[in-house]
Amino acid sequence: MTVTETAISDPAEQGTATHCPYCALQCAMGLTAPTGEDSPTLVSVTGRDFPTNRGGLCQKGWTSAEVLSAADRLRRPMLRNRSGRLVPAGWDAALDHVAEALLRIRAESGPDAIAVLGGGGLTHEKAYTLGKFARVAIGTRFIDYNGRFCMSSAAAATNRAFGLDRGLPFPLADLDQADAVLLLGTNVAETMPPFVQHLAGVRDRGGLVVVDPRHSPTAALTASGAGLHLQPVPGTDLALLQGLLHVLIAENLCDTDYLDDRVSGFEAAAAAVSVWWPERTEQVTGVSADLIRRVARMLAARSPRRGRGAVILTGRGVEQSAQGVPTVTAAINLALALGLPGRPNSGYGPITGQGNGQGGREHGQKCDQLPGYRSIGDPVARAHVAQVWGVDPDSLPGPGLPAMDLLARLGEPGGIRALLVHGSNLVVSVPNSEKLRRGLAGLDLMVVCDIVPSETAELADVVLPVAQWAEEEGTMTSLEGRIIRRRAALAPPHGVRTELDVLCDLATRLEAPCRFERDPAAVFDELARASAGGTADYSGVDYARLDAGQELFWPVPAAEPGTGAPHPGTPRVFIDGFATPDGRARMFPVEHTPPTDDVREQAPVYLLTGRVLQHYQSGAQTRRVPALVAGAGEPFGEIHPNLAARYGLQEGTPMRLQTARGDLVVRCRFSPAIRADCIFVPFHWSGSGSVNRVTSDACDPVSGMPELKVCAVRVLPDADLDPARAELVEALR
Ligand code: SF4
Repeated sequence: MTVTETAISDPAEQGTATHCPYCALQCAMGLTAPTGEDSPTLVSVTGRDFPTNRGGLCQKGWTSAEVLSAADRLRRPMLRNRSGRLVPAGWDAALDHVAEALLRIRAESGPDAIAVLGGGGLTHEKAYTLGKFARVAIGTRFIDYNGRFCMSSAAAATNRAFGLDRGLPFPLADLDQADAVLLLGTNVAETMPPFVQHLAGVRDRGGLVVVDPRHSPTAALTASGAGLHLQPVPGTDLALLQGLLHVLIAENLCDTDYLDDRVSGFEAAAAAVSVWWPERTEQVTGVSADLIRRVARMLAARSPRRGRGAVILTGRGVEQSAQGVPTVTAAINLALALGLPGRPNSGYGPITGQGNGQGGREHGQKCDQLPGYRSIGDPVARAHVAQVWGVDPDSLPGPGLPAMDLLARLGEPGGIRALLVHGSNLVVSVPNSEKLRRGLAGLDLMVVCDIVPSETAELADVVLPVAQWAEEEGTMTSLEGRIIRRRAALAPPHGVRTELDVLCDLATRLEAPCRFERDPAAVFDELARASAGGTADYSGVDYARLDAGQELFWPVPAAEPGTGAPHPGTPRVFIDGFATPDGRARMFPVEHTPPTDDVREQAPVYLLTGRVLQHYQSGAQTRRVPALVAGAGEPFGEIHPNLAARYGLQEGTPMRLQTARGDLVVRCRFSPAIRADCIFVPFHWSGSGSVNRVTSDACDPVSGMPELKVCAVRVLPDADLDPARAELVEALR
């Protein structure tokens, strides 16, 4: 495999114009595949000029084509035989086996004994078809997706405050003009490096504020007068936000005209922050009162009322929490008090993580939603979608359960007996993953569609090999609500099918009561009709408009009111009002509660989880790229030298970390840039070093988001290692 690393600007040299398979920045790239060859041995990758990445790609993007020819690429269906081994099978045999098992389980235990789990990396076409397949071909109410671990807290909070959840409500390039940007719990310098270009202006103006317990590469961008870094105690972001709002109110820095004209609920939110004076906030968060006042005053001075504009952005660091929704609500309250949403160079937005984490939650794979971001409990929505599908509205199931609740029913008596997994490597990405493994072991049937033998596929009864991003047509929606085209640069390897083919063939075998399309353009046209009139209205979008290079941000209704001309899309929402019944945004009072694990009683150190530059999510793809493995080949525990000294740990030696749910062993990596009461472990790996073996599965009660980011951990010396761990430690030495 050769990957050409050049950024080019001449469209004629760009090959197939598509986008990166990984994160929600969806950097534009060109792929050039060899002609006349079956094997993609010489796919070249080039960065394409595009408003978000401006020709840039990160190391993951540059090397993404290498996964196309991974040595262990799945090329044949696999069935588990009587002796428990996965063995190759033909497609007909595999699909017949799956259909017969699903029909038997449905006949014995009803459709809700079958569950479907999708992914935030699936194209719209696949996510939409998966939702339709679950509700119509199977008839189950149990479908959800791994975006539950990504965007659910932000989605719930923004829907409640603004009446709409679109990720960023403005084009990313608007950041270039902002005078202040507050980043909470996001490390874009590692997760999506081309994003950093859009922070150049605010850094020049000294207005970047980063909130992170680690001095991450993103926090380092605040150096040399570019801004400020706040290192709060883990799990206290909500308290910090309350303290900032307290200062705005105490010092008469709120945008009162904006609050009067456009916002409801200020008084209750203000009452809730009255107890968060800076000195008390300092006691809880560890951030000095002076710094809290300084940040609040800077944001106010640069808000559109007094300056050029300010933006507040949140990421998983504050959202993946059992108080994820209240924390995002506190960020929104702050933004509203400053008068940011719907104003020039200003606003609040969450930074979507997965490639189609935004679009994936709009078109029907969430447990409570139908296409177009419609509620499955709304009779009007049910009737509209049922009419597009050609089924009786009463035949559609009701709302299911969020992913963690769904997974808790796996293998339980009277619970879920069969699970279909698409685009998700659950056993690495789900918290408290050993508990999940026990649930999976109790299933009668697990079917995994994947491109490589992921850790989840290895546990399946049936593994179906499916096409990768460069081998398929489709659409995605980026973190800024922009609808983009994914294009095929080469055919899938012999023996590999698309997920649309798989779902169509299974629907036929299950005698589904309506037609399923296998052509992506036809699926998209149906999706557009199903979304018409919904919150996420895509009815004015088709492949021809996207292929003509039109920049389309949803909502895109079929036509402009009055003129009947094609709707131009909506790059900026909330300009003229919010999507609430009265057009006003809503503030809500919120209260700080500490993380569910208690570091004072259960264990003395905070365990933080996150990402590194080289790997994407569970690492199923990026751990198969040699250059990325060379950069980051194993999990590690980042620890302050002072904390390491307390436990007698040396740089590079193994350490055992234990939480209430289990333990893991990782190699020590010293860093003076992390708080001395924290250890950071990235979550991209499986096995004994998989940090999600020990993370907490406590969930936010509104969003169902698990508390992946913070838990209490005990550091144990080598002497406490059991024999199995000792063996691993020897291997690590
Ligand atoms: Fe861009 Fe994200 Fe892909 Fe990196 S991983 S090239 S930042 S889309």
